[in-house]
Amino acid sequence: MPELPEVETLRRELTKAVKAKTVKDFWTDWPKNVKPSASTVKTKIKGKIILDIRRRAKILIIKLSGGNFLLIHLKLTGQLIYQPKKLPATSYKLIAGGHPQKGGLDNLPNKFTHYIFSFSDGAKLFFNDLRKFGWVKLVSKLQADKLVSDFGIEPFTRDFTLKKFTEILQRYPNRKIKQILLDQTLISGLGNIYCDESCFAAKILPTRIARMLKEQEIKRLFLVIPKILKLAIDKKGTSADTYVQLDGSQGGMIPYLKVYGRQKQKCKRCRGLIHKIKLNGRGTHFCNSCQH
Ligand SMILES: [Zn+2]
Repeated sequence: MPELPEVETLRRELTKAVKAKTVKDFWTDWPKNVKPSASTVKTKIKGKIILDIRRRAKILIIKLSGGNFLLIHLKLTGQLIYQPKKLPATSYKLIAGGHPQKGGLDNLPNKFTHYIFSFSDGAKLFFNDLRKFGWVKLVSKLQADKLVSDFGIEPFTRDFTLKKFTEILQRYPNRKIKQILLDQTLISGLGNIYCDESCFAAKILPTRIARMLKEQEIKRLFLVIPKILKLAIDKKGTSADTYVQLDGSQGGMIPYLKVYGRQKQKCKRCRGLIHKIKLNGRGTHFCNSCQH
C-alpha cells in the first residue's frame, strides 16, 4: 500500500508530467469503480485542462478547468504510468508510480490496465491495478471540499501543532499510541511504515497507552513525525512494499528505515533486537531495548 510520502512523490512527478495538458478521452473496463459513472466522467472531462494536482491523505485531487475535480485513489495495488507521446524507439520513455506488477509496464495497455486517460498531445496516463480496489471519481468543488474535511490533520501543514497533537492523544486516552497515529480521521496520511519509524525515532513503544505518555514523550513524537515524512519524500518513498517511483526506479528510503521490515535484526541505535508483533492486525516493529 503506498503511504503518504509515496503518494506525495507521485503527485509531484505527475504534476510535472500532465499539468496544463488537455484531456482528450477516458477509457475503462472496470466502470464499477468509476463514480458517478464511466460515461459521465468521459463526457465531463473531455476537453478540460489539468490545472493542478493536490493531495489529501492518499487521494490525488486533480483540478480541471470548468470547476470539477477528478479524484484518484491507488488503494492496495494501483499504479499510474505516464507515457509521453510516442517517440522514436531509441528515446522512448516510460515513467511509472505506485505499486508495480510483474510485467505491468510492458506493452501498455496490458491486462492490468483498467483506466486510460488520453491527452490532446498524444500522451497517455495508464492506471493499472492488479486487485482492482483503486478508484476514479469526478466531483464538484463542494464535494471535493467535503471529502478533504473528512480527514484528520496533515502533518505538513500549520494545523499540525503540539497543542492539537496533545489534544488528539487526550481524546483517546486508552488507545495504544500506534492505533491513534494510524487513524486517518485524526492524523492524515501516516501509514504503517512511518508509524513504526516515528515511534522508534521518538524512543516510544508503539504499544504504549496514550494517557501514559509523558509531556516530553508527546513532544518528541510530535517533532519526529514531519521529519520522518520529509526524509521519506526526499528519498522518494519506500520500496519495502515493492513500491516504485514515477520513473520506475525503486524508492530510496529503504536504507533509512530503522525498524520497519528489520525484525530479528540488530537495532541501528543500541544493537538490541528488533521485534515484530501484530497490533490490531498490523505488523508492528520496534526495539524493546531503546524504545520505552
Ligand atoms: Zn534499540
